[in-house]
Amino acid sequence: MADTYRQYQEARDTAWRALLHVRDKRLPIDAEGLARDVGLHVAPLPDVREQPRLAALIQKAGKGNSVSLRIRGEWHLFLAPMTEDRRRFFVAHELGHLLLAHETRVLSPGVRCFADAGNAGDMMEEPESPLDYAADIFAIRLLAPACLLHEMHVDTASGIMRLCGLPPRAAALRAERMALLNERDAFFTHPLERQVREAYLPFLRERGAAPAPAQAAERALPLVMPLPQTENEESEKEERGKGAENTEKKPAKPIRLCLFAAAGFALAALAFFILRR
Ligand SMILES: [Zn+2]
Repeated sequence: MADTYRQYQEARDTAWRALLHVRDKRLPIDAEGLARDVGLHVAPLPDVREQPRLAALIQKAGKGNSVSLRIRGEWHLFLAPMTEDRRRFFVAHELGHLLLAHETRVLSPGVRCFADAGNAGDMMEEPESPLDYAADIFAIRLLAPACLLHEMHVDTASGIMRLCGLPPRAAALRAERMALLNERDAFFTHPLERQVREAYLPFLRERGAAPAPAQAAERALPLVMPLPQTENEESEKEERGKGAENTEKKPAKPIRLCLFAAAGFALAALAFFILRR
């Protein structure tokens, strides 16, 4: 139990660090861009006839739609054709194995795979191994950061699916978790999570969430500023006194009405005079 919690924490913290590392800080997260930056090459599954040796190695590494192999020191992720959202999740899951430095095993001289590669991208339905569970924890937290969802008030499965580009199952799991986090109001207690919010502030502001500190101060002004004037009669009188110099530039309402009436009367008199001639 303690071990599982430690693994959870490690996966969660690594996801926060990865979010800080992502170049384009916006949702959906560019998982493939991050993969490139950390040296994971993403490629389609090879054709058996064209690359029989590589296809055999992939077969040997595990079943499924995605397999990561380290070939002569370079990591390659081979993916079957799939929707963009599933692809994003699979890449994030494999990044999880890689960034959490999961155990590898030798497939053939110079080629390694993750020790438990075989059910990558299961989206926590039935994680067959603790390492796959950790990779899923990482993937979901990388692609749908709770702090950003919180700031944008997105907590339904369909909303998360649209905003983060997650497959339905992963989005539903995230929505369940968000309900729990919202109930506990468990946000921004960890320094890394606060850093993630800071790093994604331009994106949040672009989407109308999380006002900038300056904007927040401006908004607070009308609420804070009138108080001394209304509560303190002396300062209210002072304000009126200061306002007196403005009356010359901009006549008070009754004076303006008189001016309009006089002008109207003058015009009418002029018209009457001209018509009579
Ligand atoms: Zn896996």
